[in-house]
Amino acid sequence: MNWKRIILVIAGILVLIAGAAAFIYYPTYRFMFAGGTQTVDTVLTIVKGGGGNSGVLLTDSAVVVIDTKMGGDAEKLYNLARSKAGPKKIIVVNTHYHGDHVKGNRYYKGCDIYIGAYDQKFLLDDLGPENMPNHFVKDSLILFLGNETLCLYNLGPAHTWNDMIVLLKNRKVLFTGDLIFNKVNPFLVKKSGANVDQWIGALDRMMKMEGIDKVIPGHGETGDKAMIAMMRNYFLDMKVAAADPTKEKEMTAKYKDWMVIPMMTSPGVTIDYIRKQ
Ligand SMILES: [Zn+2]
Repeated sequence: MNWKRIILVIAGILVLIAGAAAFIYYPTYRFMFAGGTQTVDTVLTIVKGGGGNSGVLLTDSAVVVIDTKMGGDAEKLYNLARSKAGPKKIIVVNTHYHGDHVKGNRYYKGCDIYIGAYDQKFLLDDLGPENMPNHFVKDSLILFLGNETLCLYNLGPAHTWNDMIVLLKNRKVLFTGDLIFNKVNPFLVKKSGANVDQWIGALDRMMKMEGIDKVIPGHGETGDKAMIAMMRNYFLDMKVAAADPTKEKEMTAKYKDWMVIPMMTSPGVTIDYIRKQ
């Protein structure tokens, strides 16, 4: 075999590997980064892409941005919020500290940015000073913004140490952050403090909340309150499978239409995570 042939064979293998990777990861990429907006009503817009779902709410006194995305879509989201705000200020709420929800904070210089009460050194190391929030919500906080009332509840630890949900009280809309992955296997990492039992507890609290017509999950399509119970049932089923391997197949099959993120999330990954807890 001469060198030319060896190089051609290696190049062929590399193309095949790249093709296979693109084939495996394309659905995830599309799911995370496909853009688009959904107008809930005249003052509330859901913006997709850039990692997950964000909200832009126009009130009498400010524009509120819920989760600032990452990458190029983060800047687009900022520009949208800025154009809606005009002379009004922008207020940011981060539901949790993961990059797909906070890495656009850098565009909101001088704005009030709210997040749960994480250890601040941990946050600074993870996000960098340019994305660092400046208000830390320990339990709850209510923001009165003229015609709108925003209720921020820190329900963590669950998906991370401090997961915040945001209720737009007057519109009966709940932003759950990543406490809900709608028909997507959830992301569980020890480093972030993910705890399945506490996560179920947070979902229990959400189910008891009144005055919710619409639910905006961190990832996946928007819907209503039924989504909370669906996420809760997922974890209960995975707990059954984790405790009894003979049930694993049955429980996994129930969620065959839930999106899998290759190497990161699947029913099997969730079951393993529960077993190690
Ligand atoms: Zn997320």
